[in-house]
Amino acid sequence: MHLRKRILVTGGAGFLGSHLCKRLVGEGHDVVCVDNFFTGTKDNIIELLEESHFELMRHDVTFPLYVEVDEIYNLACPASPIHYQHDPVQTTKTSVHGAINMLGLAKRTGAKIFQASTSEVYGDPQVHPQVEGYWGHVNPIGERSCYDEGKRCAETLFFDYHRQHALQIKVARIFNTYGPNMHPNDGRVVSNFIMQALQGHPITLFGDGSQTRSFCYVDDLINGFKALMETGDDLTGPINLGNPNEFTIKELAEKVIELTNSKSELVSAPLPSDDPLQRQPNIEQAKARLGWEPVIQLEEGLRKTIQYFESLL
Ligand code: NAD
Ligand code: UDP
Repeated sequence: MHLRKRILVTGGAGFLGSHLCKRLVGEGHDVVCVDNFFTGTKDNIIELLEESHFELMRHDVTFPLYVEVDEIYNLACPASPIHYQHDPVQTTKTSVHGAINMLGLAKRTGAKIFQASTSEVYGDPQVHPQVEGYWGHVNPIGERSCYDEGKRCAETLFFDYHRQHALQIKVARIFNTYGPNMHPNDGRVVSNFIMQALQGHPITLFGDGSQTRSFCYVDDLINGFKALMETGDDLTGPINLGNPNEFTIKELAEKVIELTNSKSELVSAPLPSDDPLQRQPNIEQAKARLGWEPVIQLEEGLRKTIQYFESLL
């Protein structure tokens, strides 16, 4: 018999949340999507609004929430530097108060709870590629700190609730992910470059473009979320989820220009402060414990994402 679970997704109208909601509803679960629409939009979940097993609640996770659920995916938090730096105090509150509220909910209901943590907990890493045992190199008082330290504190809360209250926790450290449903003005590099290339605008390369990132396509990541959530109680994470293929930002720009046949030129802009110089996940744990690894590589994922942004224009 198929077991229909009641699942809460916070940040469900955002980029990753909308893909997760769609997947969970498709599998026959009852999904409650909570979002304050700071960066997310109803458009991302418009086709789910017709589904009887999908429910949308406009709610800010920094306030308590009373719902009865079996599982919680806590994704609420702006992820793009320009958005999380817009109101840094609210960003920290979202990560920290949001975690406290969702952990309290998990404690009361006995729900298993997943945390969307981030590679930013490693800061500007001095260990490369990043392994889960690395404690990171994070500036506590810089412009990115509201996000990085907020997410680090959320991890602390998850592990303290696990030790103190025996909560079932699943902490994923997500590395740069891209795909359809990213907001066109989201400000992150993949959406920026594709939108600029499609519109013939200059491609804004921050710094000299030699900094690296490793890009994961969204469908692969959602498979990783599900695989982690389905593991037994002994696996808490933190576990890296991302695609280990590493590129310089300049290589990404050139690839986007090639795939869009764009005439856009590269222009350089100042490197934002504390912008990590390199980033690449070590995913040996995810391979061994979840049997998971990404299968969609950059070119294929970019083609799908370009198609999505073309459809918006
Ligand atoms: P996103 O900005 O598209 O989605 C975040 C969602 O959270 C939005 O719908 C936003 O409106 C909502 N939100 C923000 N503050 C809220 C609040 N106080 N209460 C309720 N809802 C709130 O970003 P995303 O890429 O989908 O990221 C989702 C999660 O994954 C975030 O927690 C982010 O930190 C994490 N993450 C993402 C990436 C990535 O590359 N996409 C990498 C690392 C971590
Ligand atoms: N970046 C860039 N041009 C842009 C946007 C971003 O060169 O228009 C760079 C940014 O400086 C960083 C990388 O691309 O080195 C990834 O930035 P993003 O904001 O997507 O995510 P981050 O990994 O820094 O959180």
